[in-house]
Amino acid sequence: MSHERKVDVAVVGSGPAGHVAAIQMAKLGLSCVLIGPEHGGEDGRTTALLGSSVPYLQSLGLWDGIAAEGQALKIMRLIDDTGRLFKAPTTEFDSSEIDLEAFGYNIDNNRLVATLHAALEVQDQERVIQDKQLARSVRLESDGAMIEMEDGSVWQARLAIAADGRKSIVREAAGVEMRKWAYPQTAMVVNLHHPSTPHNNISTEFHTKTGPFTLVPYRDGFTSSLVCVVKPEDAERLKGMDRHLLALELERRAHSIYGAFEVISDPQSFPLSGMVAKQFYGPRAALIAESAHAFPPIGAQGLNLSLRDISSLADVIREDGAGDPGADDVVQTYGQLRRSDIWSRTAGVHMLNMSLISALPFGQGARTAGLALANMVPSLRKLMMKAGLDAPTKIGWTADAINKREKHS
Ligand SMILES: Cc1cc2nc3c(=O)[nH]c(=O)nc-3n(C[C@H](O)[C@H](O)[C@H](O)COP(=O)(O)OP(=O)(O)OC[C@H]3O[C@@H](n4cnc5c(N)ncnc54)[C@H](O)[C@@H]3O)c2cc1C
Repeated sequence: MSHERKVDVAVVGSGPAGHVAAIQMAKLGLSCVLIGPEHGGEDGRTTALLGSSVPYLQSLGLWDGIAAEGQALKIMRLIDDTGRLFKAPTTEFDSSEIDLEAFGYNIDNNRLVATLHAALEVQDQERVIQDKQLARSVRLESDGAMIEMEDGSVWQARLAIAADGRKSIVREAAGVEMRKWAYPQTAMVVNLHHPSTPHNNISTEFHTKTGPFTLVPYRDGFTSSLVCVVKPEDAERLKGMDRHLLALELERRAHSIYGAFEVISDPQSFPLSGMVAKQFYGPRAALIAESAHAFPPIGAQGLNLSLRDISSLADVIREDGAGDPGADDVVQTYGQLRRSDIWSRTAGVHMLNMSLISALPFGQGARTAGLALANMVPSLRKLMMKAGLDAPTKIGWTADAINKREKHS
């Protein structure tokens, strides 16, 4: 028999974005249910949390736990390894040039979700109920969202937040269409130990003809996480290699910058695609994170953009939604506010990726010229760093918070 329970907000999807959204809603004083299965702890990825993500997570009281094992990203080094005739110069973006101690921190995804989960249990258990099963169906009506669970129970909420990823059933219920496209690429991720050479808090991105090969500081000074974007068949071949041979192959592709590698995790692969919703709201629904936008892991933008979705939604609810967080004007204002940030990130990542893999000289030339100019013109380099880091409105906040953290650590 179905029974109906009422909350202010139902967050559907219990990945990192869903967890943060639920904690944020509780901080606004709203009652909330976080719907979705418990995380399995088997995500081989790491997430570089950049720019305003740090102060935002600090403001929710989440940052110290998350950062405890993260590594600061102080320099981002881009190396042209396309082997093409017109090579971009090696370019280093140094956070100190824009008065930051670090661009951000790289965090293990399992640790990230475990920390968010623990924070929910400790801080917000009175306001956030966790329903650890899948939602079976969603109905969005003018007076509320009805979410039917696998066991037949039903949640009624004034606002449904879609954090249920690429195949979002909340988005489907809202009737929001997606623009979708595929890339002929797969990201292979694996963690590496390089005992002979420290990373010195430098993230190194080799631009290859099949996509970036990026080494990001991982758990300590001598480990890095690798995101290696290659053709799908190459990813499968790498994944199938014995750990010793894989280490040798990856060292070759990294031009031995850190000497010999030891593979310390099982490689995982993620086929790349892009998608963006035509609008970011529906009746009684706000679309956030990968239910609204997804693109290749270039420049570490995905979850950072999602955190800005949540922070924006909270701002709108604080401003206009005290009476009803799912009112039409609240969700519409949220949708409008998010358009330029989401679309510009999606387009930027797409163009950068295409400039690597396209055989057409125009994109390649633009990337080469852009990096050459960045090398020569400090003001342009600073502009590129700030643009890569955040939405323009967030820069001041970021600098204050990151620098404060470094001084206290
Ligand atoms: C190789 C790689 C590297 C990346 N690196 C970075 C980086 O450095 N920085 C960065 O910012 N981003 C990065 N990203 C992007 C980032 O990983 C994603 O943005 C993020 O993991 C998505 O989190 P999410 O919570 O939106 O979605 P998900 O993690 O997909 O969570 C969706 C959740 O919804 C649940 N769910 C689905 N359907 C239902 C349902 N019907 N009912 C209830 N629950 C449901 C699922 O179980 C899941 O828990 C990277 C991505 C890749 C592929």
